[in-house]
Amino acid sequence: MQEGITIIGGGLAGCEAAWQAVRRGGSVTLWEMKPQRFSPAHVSPDLAELVCSNSLRSNSMENAVGILKEELRRLGSLLMAAAETTRVPAGDALAVDRQAFASLVTSRLENREGLKIARKEVSGIPEEGIVIVASGPLTSPALAESIRKMAGEEHLYFYDAIAPIVDGDGLDLKVIFRASRYGEGNDYLNCPMNAEEYFRFVDELGRGEKVPYREFEKPVHFEGCLPIEEMADRGRETLAHGPMKPVGLKDPRTGKTPYAVVQLRHEDSRGSAYNLVGFQTKLKWGEQERIFRMIPGLEKARFLRFGSLHRNTFIHSPTLLEKTLQFKKDPRIFFAGQVTGVEGYVESTAMGLLAGINAARMAKGEPLMIPPPTTAIGSLVHYITSPEVKHFQPMNVNFGLFPPLEGRLRGKDKKRAMSERALKDLEIPVGAQINAPRRNRNES
Ligand SMILES: Cc1cc2nc3c(=O)[nH]c(=O)nc-3n(C[C@H](O)[C@H](O)[C@H](O)COP(=O)(O)OP(=O)(O)OC[C@H]3O[C@@H](n4cnc5c(N)ncnc54)[C@H](O)[C@@H]3O)c2cc1C
Repeated sequence: MQEGITIIGGGLAGCEAAWQAVRRGGSVTLWEMKPQRFSPAHVSPDLAELVCSNSLRSNSMENAVGILKEELRRLGSLLMAAAETTRVPAGDALAVDRQAFASLVTSRLENREGLKIARKEVSGIPEEGIVIVASGPLTSPALAESIRKMAGEEHLYFYDAIAPIVDGDGLDLKVIFRASRYGEGNDYLNCPMNAEEYFRFVDELGRGEKVPYREFEKPVHFEGCLPIEEMADRGRETLAHGPMKPVGLKDPRTGKTPYAVVQLRHEDSRGSAYNLVGFQTKLKWGEQERIFRMIPGLEKARFLRFGSLHRNTFIHSPTLLEKTLQFKKDPRIFFAGQVTGVEGYVESTAMGLLAGINAARMAKGEPLMIPPPTTAIGSLVHYITSPEVKHFQPMNVNFGLFPPLEGRLRGKDKKRAMSERALKDLEIPVGAQINAPRRNRNES
């Protein structure tokens, strides 16, 4: 008889995982703590609740999240089908009537043979059987404690402090210089500022419109990851002595130390994406674009990801997970959704889809699937599980995660070529990208 599959969390990832597993013949129990217990952001008893915006973002094939959605549709996603059915007008974005969406997903799952829904909080990871942990960014405290014990204290996080990421293509290297502090290498790109530029920038940070904190996010105010604008509020010189300090850096064009410096660090080994070091922020996205483009050398920067700061439970996937989303120390356990370190509704759904497929394949003794890195879903899996990622922070899907193309395509041509490659490579048969299935910790 086939081993049963237990899924913890009936959010976006858990629902998609349940659907994928059951349609492949898996026998699934989906545990959801609502309505017995609600996280600080969830309010509806339905499954697949969208806790904030009702938009699943762009549908365009020139946008990485548009490609990801198309891949999910082609892979038979329940949530993408429900989104189409409950769609509301929103230009090129896919936005939904959130109540209709959640209610449709709930009824499809409740009426699905082979699937049992149990409305109860799970306080520990089950010790037997195949398990998918999809408890989301607001995992209940008892379960978080159980994950912490299993993963190790240093590998579970409760907040993310995300700095923006810019595309390497839009940087003005006539202004920006390459150097590490005290001449020890060339690892950083440095955007130099004179005093006038610095003070204008600091004043604008103070004026910029911010996203308000939610009540349960207030404890985020710990010193290690203060938002850049809050540091600026503490005094006009604070940033020049903090993340923008110029110590140990000389601009080779002037031979002098600038008044302040914004450092850009490689986000990938190819130099196609860089993050703004120490620039975690609660500024609104439009404001980030406007104000950060005041930084010399970033006037034409293209933002691959904007900064943010919020409550988020996630694990250090580069250390803990295989590319199949199996937990390395105990491969009968899969992680899915935002808890893996992806960010966003569609990205979480995608990780649920992969975990559901692989859990069902494991139950049948079949080889597991790893999507190619040239696909949107594969690019995310490769990002979250890549040991080369030194400063792991949650990530939305974006073109900076895709392997480069051959040749020097730019702009829309590059995006179109990446999207064509993604959909073509998605058709590679599962067996071409596999890991041997590993049933339990003793056999691994
Ligand atoms: C305040 C807030 C606002 C956000 N806004 C956006 C946004 O606008 N756009 C966007 O794309 N993303 C947003 N996100 C991120 C969003 O939460 C995720 O993208 C997505 O919901 C994650 O899907 P998931 O399935 O991993 O987790 P969730 O959708 O949160 O699902 C997890 C489920 O697990 C349940 N659960 C938790 N612990 C247990 C337990 N111990 N036992 C049983 N069940 C449990 C929860 O009740 C929940 O139903 C936001 C997140 C937060 C916290």
